[in-house]
Amino acid sequence: MFLDLQDRRVLVVGGGAVARRKIEALRAAGARVVVGAPELEPAIAQRVDDGDIEHLAASFDPAWLDDVWLVVAATDDAAVNRAVAAAAESRRLWANVVDDAELSSVQVPSRVERGRLQVAISSGGGAPMLARHLRERLETQLDESLGELAELLTVQRERIRRRWPDIGARRTFFERLLAGPVPQRLRRGDSAGARRAFEQALAETAPVPTGSVALVGAGPGDPGLLTLRGLRVLNEADVILHDRLVSREVLALARRDAELIEVGKKVGGNHDATQSRIHALLVEHARAGKRVVRLKGGDPFVFGRGGEELEVLHAHGIDFEVVPGITAAVACAAYAGVPLTHRDHAQSVRFVTALGRDGGDPIDWPALAQERQTLAFYMGVSGLERVRDRLIAHGRSADTPFALVENGTRARQRVVVGTLAQLPQTAAAHAVQAPALLILGEVAASASVLHWFGPAPLRLEDAPDAAAIPWAA
Ligand code: SAH
Repeated sequence: MFLDLQDRRVLVVGGGAVARRKIEALRAAGARVVVGAPELEPAIAQRVDDGDIEHLAASFDPAWLDDVWLVVAATDDAAVNRAVAAAAESRRLWANVVDDAELSSVQVPSRVERGRLQVAISSGGGAPMLARHLRERLETQLDESLGELAELLTVQRERIRRRWPDIGARRTFFERLLAGPVPQRLRRGDSAGARRAFEQALAETAPVPTGSVALVGAGPGDPGLLTLRGLRVLNEADVILHDRLVSREVLALARRDAELIEVGKKVGGNHDATQSRIHALLVEHARAGKRVVRLKGGDPFVFGRGGEELEVLHAHGIDFEVVPGITAAVACAAYAGVPLTHRDHAQSVRFVTALGRDGGDPIDWPALAQERQTLAFYMGVSGLERVRDRLIAHGRSADTPFALVENGTRARQRVVVGTLAQLPQTAAAHAVQAPALLILGEVAASASVLHWFGPAPLRLEDAPDAAAIPWAA
């Protein structure tokens, strides 16, 4: 039951902090609050002074219950609370006694609110902490835009009824509407677009499938680094096209009956053929009316070819949205204890890919070799020798520290550290594998001090057969 308290008198007995919280919630629900207590804490007294609530300045009197709809006992005196409950009971008035399920005839639920849409959770007063825990989980899953959706449906309720008088047909209409572009547009903050899509849906006579694509950044691997919005979109997906780089833990968060399709690129495989296949799959599933999630490692717009995929969708008139992710450089730096910028050592940071497009070398090495900046190299494991040689040739100090982060943020994370001069040897000695991210610059030195995740950083000397490597000594 949800009570309409708008302009109805509700009595709160008690004038302390607990009463204040109840008063605030009741005022938010539109109730006319009467507070009964000999003394009030300042915040409540202020509300009385403002004329916002009424004050009965005395000890509890059962006559206070005569003209109220509901009563809340919020004193710290058990005897008073009991007296309030008993007086309410004999008048057949609903009463809530704070923190006392036995005495209460009404429980106040934990709530998730999105505008006029409310989800209430109750354990019958028995396990309020569990209800609160569930509430937090729901908070993360229900998008803020649901409030606006509820408002739109409220305003349009009569029109929808008239358009589909038959309840069965109306239900089908709602199912299509809620799976379609209206909620998605609202989620993107496009109220006008949602309104147009609604008008279109209302005008339709036969169901027209309206698929869409969400380009989502899955982050570097640790599922805790997925965004809330990413999680919500995964919860609604019909089809998920994911890269190989996306961790199993993240995929496990997707809707159970979503179809998972791995479209990963193998190292050395034909990337352009794979990319064309991805484009074809995106268009095919969206055209079939599916809610498609294109899930990429890290952020979709950082070395992820996300832009190309959106261009294809745009050209085909398919609806899309983009959910950013935590990119590998940001995540690996955090999990290796390396601040990417530093007031003294690095005024800028660059995200660089060590791979050229067609084997050429489009990289501006002289610019990268400049001091006082941090370089984050993606896809670098195989090109380390070139990175070292070019940077040193263009003047970067051979002593510049590096931190090479393998499987960053994942359970198997390893960090290998050293100086630029010995970068390729150190990586080889520890057999560093993809995915790995190279951070180069003064800031990388702090990996040895500030590491907090996974095993301590490894140096060249720590390699199993370091003694056998001539340059290790
Ligand atoms: N869009 C992705 C990058 C794709 S390119 C992002 O924003 O992170 C792939 C490269 O990213 C890998 O070769 C590696 O250099 C880096 N990378 C991705 N995930 C990583 C991880 N968990 N640990 C280390 N490097 C990672």
